[in-house]
Amino acid sequence: ERPVRISVQRHRYGEGKQLLLTRDVTMLEQAEAMRRDFVANVSHEIRTPLTVMSGFVETLQTLPLSVEEQKRYLALMAVQAIRMQGLVEDLLTLSRLEGSPIPNFSNTMRVSNLVQTCESEARGLSDAIAQGAAAQIIQFEMNPLLAQASLMGDPRELQSALSNLVSNAVRYTPAGGHIYVNVDQGVDGSLLISVRDTGAGIAAEHLPRLTERFYRVDRSRSRESGGTGLGLAIVKHVMQRHGGSLSITSEVGQGSCFKLVFPSTRWRLPA
Ligand code: ADP
Repeated sequence: ERPVRISVQRHRYGEGKQLLLTRDVTMLEQAEAMRRDFVANVSHEIRTPLTVMSGFVETLQTLPLSVEEQKRYLALMAVQAIRMQGLVEDLLTLSRLEGSPIPNFSNTMRVSNLVQTCESEARGLSDAIAQGAAAQIIQFEMNPLLAQASLMGDPRELQSALSNLVSNAVRYTPAGGHIYVNVDQGVDGSLLISVRDTGAGIAAEHLPRLTERFYRVDRSRSRESGGTGLGLAIVKHVMQRHGGSLSITSEVGQGSCFKLVFPSTRWRLPA
């Protein structure tokens, strides 16, 4: 349990009289600590690729390298630059989500469009990672009626939520593994879009913290696969803004299932 923090201000007035004002500043201090942590994390995330790039620049400047070697170093630098671009994109997305008003629910997006866009993204990413070797087996399945359903809210945000889940499934599932994307209706009338994989799975103790910014189960694995540590924070944010939620279940050695849950008031079938 965290201690409660109280600030006390003393005001003197009249003759020998004083007034003590007390204020509970626990929340304020917590928010300030979170902000400090965030800035420290962002700085660290930016410093790492910059350090690597400066190292390569120095090597290129000082060592007599063949053209082939120079190209290899430049390619490694490009990887770092792309990593930083991804980080900046995700940071901008998060700050946009925090700063913008709740989505306009008279806008809608067809579920089939949402899922199909993710399908081509997933196959592209999977092929890029596999580089010619056997990629994952990716299956998209939609009940034809639910495929016609419309989700209410911001299409760009919804797309980024599902894309993040699908790209995680691809990045954390070894070649030959399976990824299933399904659209279902829950017993309470909610619409469920689930992304299930047969990857490494996640131990139970990590699950509650997975949507925190920069929280990663395995830092080097996340970095290697081009992760920023912000993907699930973005998904959670988008779902909250849409009145829905993100549900996560996983078992080590079996795989994980990430589910976008849209309440019945946030989707509809065509008339
Ligand atoms: P990252 O960019 O590191 O992937 P995310 O916020 O998207 O950041 O995910 C946070 C962490 O959750 C990841 O670093 C990884 O450890 C874990 N994770 C996310 N998706 C999966 C998955 N499908 N299978 C296993 N672990 C996952």
